[in-house]
Amino acid sequence: MKTVVQKYGGTSVGGIEKIQAVAKRVAERKNKGDQVVVVLSAMGKTTDKLISMAKEISATPTRRELDMLMSTGEQVSISLLSIALNEMGYESIALTGFQAGIETQGYHTKAKIQNIDVEKVKNYLNDGKIVVVAGFQGMNENGDITTLGRGGSDTTAVALAAKLECVCEIYTDVDGIYAVDPRLFPTAKKLDVISYEEMLEMASLGAGVMETRAVEIGQKFGVPMYVALSSGKWPGTYIKEFDVTMESKAITGLSVSDKDLMVTVNHVPYNSQNISMIFQELAKKDVNIDMISQTAPSHGMVNVSFTATKTDEDIVLEIMETLKENFKDIEIDIERDITKLSVVGIGMRSQSGVAAKMFKIFADHNIGFKQVTTSEIRISYTIATKDAQRAIEEVAKEFDL
Ligand code: ADP
Ligand code: ASP
Ligand code: MG
Repeated sequence: MKTVVQKYGGTSVGGIEKIQAVAKRVAERKNKGDQVVVVLSAMGKTTDKLISMAKEISATPTRRELDMLMSTGEQVSISLLSIALNEMGYESIALTGFQAGIETQGYHTKAKIQNIDVEKVKNYLNDGKIVVVAGFQGMNENGDITTLGRGGSDTTAVALAAKLECVCEIYTDVDGIYAVDPRLFPTAKKLDVISYEEMLEMASLGAGVMETRAVEIGQKFGVPMYVALSSGKWPGTYIKEFDVTMESKAITGLSVSDKDLMVTVNHVPYNSQNISMIFQELAKKDVNIDMISQTAPSHGMVNVSFTATKTDEDIVLEIMETLKENFKDIEIDIERDITKLSVVGIGMRSQSGVAAKMFKIFADHNIGFKQVTTSEIRISYTIATKDAQRAIEEVAKEFDL
């Protein structure tokens, strides 16, 4: 008997009728004879609403309490789906992250899955039940509820599929992976298949259709993934390992992210230990840094810039304050209106000239950039948010995305 993990996102379970429609889809799959695990997000914008309620009370709610609050969203959707399935005559059981054996470690609001004890899930499946698991949550070594970072239901789903050694289907409000987010560039082309490697870069650089760690786990454990519309109307996109030589385009996709802020630490006394200390402090607090640049030394001082996610701004500011104890003259500058544009493609390994084309686009359209970073299969630029839409359109045109 085959097992499948199906994940439905927030929009797909955004109301009672939608939950009933999902129940029908799940039941159809069960009728085919498959064992079905369903992972759900919270209904619609529930998580955002929960966070803003907390923020109405406190500008800095503790992350532990935020986790406790946010995790309630998924409990509502899983119970309702299970009730809908029972009502249709199917045996179903709703499980919180903890009940599904999801053990996490790390910081509250961005915990990582350490292990999943899937015995219980397997037993329920063997009893013929449809197992409905709350996405986005787990429990840490202290017995506290944790969440996995925004969009983390994808991670729950792929991690469960990895443990159950089965396929993972991600159902959402878009009918597959596009070369550019169709909300930003509506004429973007849909991809039939994308490699794990490219999807990983695209996701980490802003293609919010898949959560980055979900793709990471998928790649590590070779979980076949399929992203499609929750109504199942159109064929979606497969994410898997595939033959690079079949690919002729240099660029597969363009990712856009407004989620970063750029921090500049001015007047740092120049020696490598000082620079190392800044990044060690950030690493200790689990702050993920992406782009880094440094000016040439002048009068023994350098300015160091890096990008971090806006959700880590409070931690970054706290660290910067402690740095002032060591470096009295430093000044911190934070730019929030920046957008990161990244072109991604395994074709870049064999084709050159992508960077040159990008620089020409920026020059021809008078778009300034602040930082550039490259890897083997991507080039990222930070630009002012006001220039982003123009840049997206010109880059998409140039690379036929
Ligand atoms: P869910 O709630 O189902 O997890 P998300 O909002 O997290 O849904 O992800 C779906 C959204 O991802 C789409 O509505 C789309 O705007 C966005 N998206 C970003 N980049 C891409 C891309 N390259 N291809 C398809 N969708 C993308
Ligand atoms: N409900 C959570 C969020 O909004 C997790 C998810 O949707 O994947 O981030
Ligand atoms: Mg999502």
